[in-house]
Amino acid sequence: MDFTDYDPAVFNAIHDEEARQQHNIELIASENIVSPAVRAAQGSVLTNKYSEGYPGHRYYGGNQYIDVVEQLAIDRAKELFGAEYVNVQPHSGSGANMAAYRAFLADGDKVLAMDLTDGGHLTHGAAVSFSGQTYHFYHYGLDPETGRLDYDKILEMAQTLHPKLIVAGASAYSREIDFAKFRDIADHIGAFLMVDMAHIAGLVAGGAHMSPIPYADVVTTTTHKTLRGPRGGMILAKAQYGKAINSAVFPGIQGGPLDHVIAAKAVALGEALRPDFKDYAAQVVKNTQAMCAGFAEDPQLKMVSGGSDNHMVLLDVTGYGVTGRDVQDLLDTVDITTNKNQVPGEQNGPFKTSGVRIGSAAITTRGFNEAECKQVAHLISAAIQNRDNQTKLTEIKQSVLALTALHPLS
Ligand code: PLP
Repeated sequence: MDFTDYDPAVFNAIHDEEARQQHNIELIASENIVSPAVRAAQGSVLTNKYSEGYPGHRYYGGNQYIDVVEQLAIDRAKELFGAEYVNVQPHSGSGANMAAYRAFLADGDKVLAMDLTDGGHLTHGAAVSFSGQTYHFYHYGLDPETGRLDYDKILEMAQTLHPKLIVAGASAYSREIDFAKFRDIADHIGAFLMVDMAHIAGLVAGGAHMSPIPYADVVTTTTHKTLRGPRGGMILAKAQYGKAINSAVFPGIQGGPLDHVIAAKAVALGEALRPDFKDYAAQVVKNTQAMCAGFAEDPQLKMVSGGSDNHMVLLDVTGYGVTGRDVQDLLDTVDITTNKNQVPGEQNGPFKTSGVRIGSAAITTRGFNEAECKQVAHLISAAIQNRDNQTKLTEIKQSVLALTALHPLS
């Protein structure tokens, strides 16, 4: 159905966005492209329903079908990740983190998490976030030499600071995180371990990244990044924490769940249970590595940590005398979408930054292969080198259009 005549202002913008997504190479590491079935569930009549509570225990009548859908989402997530307990109601990753903190901490408690500048998330204790304002966060960073987590240093900090909770997980870290080592560190000091696997959930589901489930007391995630579901959050935990987490989500921080989004989560989790999702996760990693091989040919681009084990790579672009912001804006002009990102030891501040974050989850969904991903890296290099040459930039944009035309959105 086309509603353009009904509300042209909104629907023309939606059509324009669809066209933008079709002809842009989407490299934002936190984005993906959901299936038509996920979109259909999210656009369904379930948006009409109120269903405060949990399956079998609702505060409103008429929830017999909503219960079916939410239970399916829970059961599929348990099966996919091997989790004892799952809550699919958090509206977002930030909400999932807020609820997890409330289930495990009292205001003012000490937490050790990854620094925002080195790749952590705002909800890992940034001063501008509820997390940093409610709890007493300390931060570990990356080894400046290797660009990797230094587990000995994290243990040392944990032993000195004695946090009640340690958070592992990141928004911009291109290497595998060793959750067994984090468990050891937490056990050394009797702390809880929370893993925020928002970025890598799809890789974990597809067996392309170590799973945090056996090691963490609680795992939070978004459902819309590598997991390829609707925008939303989810919490997985050991069964013993289920009651506290349920109460922290509802009525702790939320009212009625978004049942249409939960239906879309159920569909996406069903897709992730299919054998071909393993192929997808493996291809995401191969495609990132192909891009890294392309970037490695450009001596003026530096990859933080020298490469990637997952779906993203962080490029330090200062070798070209430009900022991350400059590169993000430049790439926008050739229809390549990225985001500026801080790098370890950031000198340019959070608005300009020294880096860009490049992810392969969305283009892999579109069917880009390794050769095409390497070509994407070459196009990025060429755009930066020729940033003052309009003729060359026009040629690069034409190459982008040729690639995206080969791989239409589903
Ligand atoms: N946790 C991590 C590691 C993230 O990268 C993000 C989002 O980028 C979030 C949490 C927050 O998710 P949301 O934007 O859904 O609140």
